[in-house]
Amino acid sequence: MQYRISFPHMGKYYIPIKKAMEAFVGNYGEVILPPPITKRTIELGALHSPDFVCVPFKYTLGNFIEALENGANVLFQIAGDCRLGFYSEVQEQILQDLDFDFTFHMMELNGKNAKGLYEVFKAMNPELTLPKVVSTLAVVVRIVYAMDGIEKYIRQNIGFEVEKGGFERIEKQFLAEIATAETMPQAGRIFKKYLKKLKTVALNKPAKPLRVGVVGELYVLMEPFSNYFIEKELAKFGIEVERFITASYLIFSTQHNVKKILKQADGYVSYEIGADGTDSVAKSVVMAKKGYDGIIHLKPFGCTPEVNSIPMVNKISEDFEIPVLYFSFDAQTSETGVKTRLEAFYDMLEMKKRGRAL
Ligand code: SF4
Repeated sequence: MQYRISFPHMGKYYIPIKKAMEAFVGNYGEVILPPPITKRTIELGALHSPDFVCVPFKYTLGNFIEALENGANVLFQIAGDCRLGFYSEVQEQILQDLDFDFTFHMMELNGKNAKGLYEVFKAMNPELTLPKVVSTLAVVVRIVYAMDGIEKYIRQNIGFEVEKGGFERIEKQFLAEIATAETMPQAGRIFKKYLKKLKTVALNKPAKPLRVGVVGELYVLMEPFSNYFIEKELAKFGIEVERFITASYLIFSTQHNVKKILKQADGYVSYEIGADGTDSVAKSVVMAKKGYDGIIHLKPFGCTPEVNSIPMVNKISEDFEIPVLYFSFDAQTSETGVKTRLEAFYDMLEMKKRGRAL
């Protein structure tokens, strides 16, 4: 059997995931990327999803349908400790009811799963060895760190480019080159080369620009289509953007640890409230203490862990006098509504900074 493997999109992370899966399946299969997310993706996903399920379910179901239409026959979904843990079973059933022919695998979202991955792929590729899985994962992890490092620099500075488009051009070249890295040192060198290039881009950045932190649920934070490209929109106003949630932070960082997160939350929450909710509180505290001008909280409609975090984020907002803008996304969210609210938020932050309001 020729294995045609696919998995849902989440930002640009398809690059390292594809690389890893190609190495694991070897000559016994190929990776079929779902087409880039479009309106059709979310419409398809929403059409076949239970109405009240959170929006990442709908997007990823749409990705699966489009990948299956393009010939995929092995699907991977991640597991998690909220409703994400039930996605696989429900999505598998929906796709079977739609008469697709495929096998479905659920993988834990953590950095210790090399053996589980090995067993799944060994069943497809008898030549695969555990050392091959481990060495591939090492390179892929370095690539993920490199991508997150480059994105961080861009997020903080793209709003201040003198000539628009420079960062995007360099990032495109970076992504093409990092995808070819075969060793950790090679990936490290590519990262350094492109960070250096990014630093040559001329900026017109004030000494104290408006700074906004984005917190919330991991999928809507990391899949820009699902948040209406909010970071790009913020950059258009000349805002420096900070976001802590990235794949490297969630999966590999020692900082993503309940005890450390609760310590950062500084009493605003004293026990875990599920998924990224605790982190949303903790990072709101961190940014409020650092004097950020505003916080944007993103969540899928009905996401219980993030709903849980809202009273504490409100309290932080009151205590530190830091404005918070909340967005709740679903398949029918209006793009115009998002842009209008962002514009109003920006105006308010600007006035506050100049001391003309609040
Ligand atoms: S964190 Fe929220 S939106 Fe994300 S999968 Fe869990 S319940 Fe759904």
